[in-house]
Amino acid sequence: MICKLVAKSENKIDFRLETPRNTYIIKPKFMKASVTLSRDPVMMVSPASLQNRWTGSRVISVCVGLCLLLLQGCMRPVSQPFYWPPPAQSHTEYPASQPPSSQGAEVTNTGRGATTVRVVEKCLINTGQTKTFIHEVGPLETVWRLSRMYDVPQQDIYAANRMKTEDPLRIGQKLVIPNAKSLRHVIPLYPSNQWKYIIIHHTATDIGNAMLVHRSHHDRGFWQGLGYHFIIDNGTLSKCDGQIEVAPRWIKQQEGAHCKAGGMNGKAIGVALVGNFNETLPTTKQMESLAYLLRTLMQQYRIPPSQVMGHRDVDGASTDCPGKRFPWSNLRQCLSTY
Ligand SMILES: [Zn+2]
Repeated sequence: MICKLVAKSENKIDFRLETPRNTYIIKPKFMKASVTLSRDPVMMVSPASLQNRWTGSRVISVCVGLCLLLLQGCMRPVSQPFYWPPPAQSHTEYPASQPPSSQGAEVTNTGRGATTVRVVEKCLINTGQTKTFIHEVGPLETVWRLSRMYDVPQQDIYAANRMKTEDPLRIGQKLVIPNAKSLRHVIPLYPSNQWKYIIIHHTATDIGNAMLVHRSHHDRGFWQGLGYHFIIDNGTLSKCDGQIEVAPRWIKQQEGAHCKAGGMNGKAIGVALVGNFNETLPTTKQMESLAYLLRTLMQQYRIPPSQVMGHRDVDGASTDCPGKRFPWSNLRQCLSTY
């Protein structure tokens, strides 16, 4: 086992265990020392911070105890992104003719010519230093997309996962992303006259991500599963708070399955935020990401603010989606200043 254990505080001892795949929080009742385990194994103790004398046998006892705790599942895994510093305010654009390789289907397979598709990117999280990340593959995600999201060369992702370029990705597959430098929104913008409205939804669930909604919609009989074009995550199910997931319907430029009323499925972009906004509010980062996404889409497709609406505001829709507590005034204010 290769892992690193460090004390966060000398009085209120709160341990983080970092492994190549996860970070764990260890409650104080389990541990009282700072120990580093390595492949050799070499063990180190930090007596200055602990004011405690440790003998070799006690250290070994701790190590053995730690291994037992791991086996018993006594530790709570914590996703890496929550330890990352605030996002940098960068915004870059790339001509779509630059990126794709064999995995770059989302840009090359539109049938519209790669030079006519723009891809805009915005940093959500800057790691500050490179980190290894475990990514769970969402619907129609590609190595090209992951390379952009994490600012890691495609060949590094292939190598870290012992994959060949022709290997397909599977939904739910866990990939090692080595030396991730950031987490970015990567939004492809296709030329189209189809999109006249943007309809905002909530998932009406406390947790979720594109993969979960895709499976849920598929089970409910929705044509081709995930009915929205974009999902904005709330930091659950291994996704970051405010992360924008681009759904297959957007990549394929297909009509949605999110609002039958008013014929909106054929003319409206469906954006869903993970959460139940009858009960809670969206997170600040979700609202920031929503504002960014709406501005980007409104500008690209010349959609006026009056045609950005909630599901329940569509004539004929019988729903309270996106929830009674959705902060419309804040969003309208944000969009009006754009
Ligand atoms: Zn809805």
